[in-house]
Amino acid sequence: MSIKIAVFSAKPYDREFLASALNAKKQENNGDGMPFDLVFHDFALGLDSVALARGATAVCVFVNDVLNAAVLEALYAEGVRAVLLRCAGFNHVDLVKAETLGFFVANVPSYSPEAVAEFSVALLQTLNRRTHRAYNRVREGNFALDGLLGITLHGKTVGVVGTGRIGLAAARIFKGYGCRILAYDPYKSDDFLVENLGAYEDDLDTLLPQCDFVSLHCPLTKGTHHIINEHTLAKMKPGAMLVNTSRGGLISTKPVIAALKSRHLGGVALDVYEGEGGLFYNDHSGDIIEDDELMRLMTFPNVILCGHQAFFTVEALTEIANVTLQNFADFLLSRPCPNSLVRSHKLFIRRDSYPVRI
Ligand code: NAD
Repeated sequence: MSIKIAVFSAKPYDREFLASALNAKKQENNGDGMPFDLVFHDFALGLDSVALARGATAVCVFVNDVLNAAVLEALYAEGVRAVLLRCAGFNHVDLVKAETLGFFVANVPSYSPEAVAEFSVALLQTLNRRTHRAYNRVREGNFALDGLLGITLHGKTVGVVGTGRIGLAAARIFKGYGCRILAYDPYKSDDFLVENLGAYEDDLDTLLPQCDFVSLHCPLTKGTHHIINEHTLAKMKPGAMLVNTSRGGLISTKPVIAALKSRHLGGVALDVYEGEGGLFYNDHSGDIIEDDELMRLMTFPNVILCGHQAFFTVEALTEIANVTLQNFADFLLSRPCPNSLVRSHKLFIRRDSYPVRI
């Protein structure tokens, strides 16, 4: 008998990387010891799709799957006992409810901070040097440079908001460009200080007026929701550019649009968007998109938007698949799991019948 993991929001690349990680583990164990079945669903997890998890011990979900109290209760009723996040962020999971119900919940906290940091800088430089516009222009035989003027990064001040794994990796890259780095994080990083990457400011209000570029790398929490708002935008240096590869909810979109219209903001590069759930990761090119703020954002020549792809590298997908299976094995074997997001969960005591070896 095998144990089922219902994988939601499963794209072809999820299927490929999870299936090949599972096969590799099975081969390592001579075909036994990995009694998992992966059942893939294209749909996102939500109240209307919970029934697809029937018979599964775990659900495996991504950033735009919904795991609120109602969904967790419904999953529990279907017999699901573990939630495996194929991502680092867990703002979309009601952890208190999960813990109350006795769910095991684990994430992949660090699959490739460099992948996200590299993408942040790439996005910022695309915005700054207008390579997205140049690409289209030269394909039409237009080699004029008007409108493509950028700013040299060397010597400029970059504000890094959040110096965890990704913020730190971004700071190292910005340092390589010769930037002056200012950071804000309520919990200062020893690595940031030891590596002499830059200086900390005590609050955003002090940091923002000094920065030519601001890069967001903090998680979405109650405290960071709309951390970029009318007040903080007004503090930013005129012409400064903002990049967000963290979570859409860090930014309040309406005042950003106003700051772009007034020319106070020099540009915005986004990999994430507050209303991305239900839109991102799917093809809506033939649909009428209802989100007027998103559509307005996309009309600015100095706004770049990507569909939450900063993590999307071979290395990151490999790591996500391996760690997700490892987390599940920890749950099945009632082993301590370093990536558990709940303090306690009901143990899965079937060790003898399901000899999982990872
Ligand atoms: P991390 O936990 O290592 O670091 C987050 C840092 O933010 C911590 O140092 C924390 O102290 C700091 N922080 C908390 N509140 C803050 C505040 N109010 N102001 C400033 N800093 C604050 O996380 P990480 O691995 O660096 O990831 C950061 C975020 O990136 C994740 O939460 C996730 O939302 C996002 N992410 C996005 C992608 C993508 O593909 N776009 C991929 C992975 C992660």
